[in-house]
Amino acid sequence: MKEKYHRAITEEVLRPFFAPAALEEIIRANVGQDALRYQFGHDHFHYDNSAFRAGDAYLAEQRRQVIETLQQTGPVSVARAAFGRLTHSAQDFYAHSNYITLWRERNPDAAPEQIDPLLPEILADARLVSGRIYAPLEYFSFFSLFAPLVLPLLPRDSHAWMNKDDPSRPGFQEAYVAARKRTRLELEEIRRVLSPAQWQAWSK
Ligand SMILES: [Zn+2]
Repeated sequence: MKEKYHRAITEEVLRPFFAPAALEEIIRANVGQDALRYQFGHDHFHYDNSAFRAGDAYLAEQRRQVIETLQQTGPVSVARAAFGRLTHSAQDFYAHSNYITLWRERNPDAAPEQIDPLLPEILADARLVSGRIYAPLEYFSFFSLFAPLVLPLLPRDSHAWMNKDDPSRPGFQEAYVAARKRTRLELEEIRRVLSPAQWQAWSK
């Protein structure tokens, strides 16, 4: 997903819960995952190349880091940064996999707002894949100037063809809503295990 949308989703979902400075720390860590050095060899950050197992493990690790840091009254900025990284990957899952396509197939007439971001039957569908990065050609597609030139040269299972990173891509609206709902669920899952004092320290 493009930085603009990671930022918009994270802000929209978390603004009611976090003080502005705390929220900014989370957003900075979220969009920091798309730094150029993390675009290569970091499939699990972005759920590229069908790295579902590694992506899920990465998410679990960030979740654990948030909770343990807060339970041990460690630095709240560490917990906020981990949550920012977590939300980035969770949001990219919908932009880079065919989850939206598989949901649409089951719900041809549903409004995007109705999407359930964690349907077990889709997560277990053997056809669930995410865009492959065809290096080095694929890297040119990250730049809008080159994208139209390399797109015809890349296979249909490539990241360039499959992504829902911005509104020009089919399925973007559904991916946006699913990413928003998932961000909210991730927050709730963590909040549930925190004491009021831990929550207060993290969010204010
Ligand atoms: Zn990403």
